[in-house]
Amino acid sequence: MDTETKLFLEKHKITKREVIDAKGQTMYQLADLMKSENKLFAYNTTQCSKGHTIRSRSGHCIVCRPAGITFIRRSLETGNVYIAGSISKQYIKIGMTTVPLDHRFSRLNSRRVGNANDWVLIKSIKCDFANMHEFAIQELLRKYRIEGDKYGDVESQEIFRCSYEKANSTLEKYFEENEIPIIEKKTHLYNPEKYAFRNLINPRNI
Ligand SMILES: [Zn+2]
Repeated sequence: MDTETKLFLEKHKITKREVIDAKGQTMYQLADLMKSENKLFAYNTTQCSKGHTIRSRSGHCIVCRPAGITFIRRSLETGNVYIAGSISKQYIKIGMTTVPLDHRFSRLNSRRVGNANDWVLIKSIKCDFANMHEFAIQELLRKYRIEGDKYGDVESQEIFRCSYEKANSTLEKYFEENEIPIIEKKTHLYNPEKYAFRNLINPRNI
């Protein structure tokens, strides 16, 4: 490992356990190897357009874009994937959080995410790689996703016009089919049938 690489890894507190030497590997082999060895970053990779040779598992140059370091770490964290509902807006939200759920919900409501302040937590599943699972479930529900630019808020990406039942069966099926280990599963409401909103397909998202 050259000094420049070593200093970069040190600066960003990337440990030896997280990196792999990419020398002699094709991009394709490398991606597989990183996954099977659970490595987040590789050095001695092919050069990016600026000549750097440290990349994340997804192949992005982390010297050009150090924010990718936080992103990939976050994606591997343990957290709660949750389903929330707003009766006033008839919205379902699929989200994930690594902070305690009650903190998360008071923040959602005080910030009026999706223009609603009556978000209620309906169900949560605690698991590893929560961020990755959150994205995957949101993708499965994408045809119900609301128009994002209406609120200019990244969190509107997480809001859907569908019933709790639709969201819940999608989530349950996803965890079951992919055999994802569940640390804890909770339904927080006695009457989730109040959240039986209409499933409205957004033609722009098909
Ligand atoms: Zn670069």
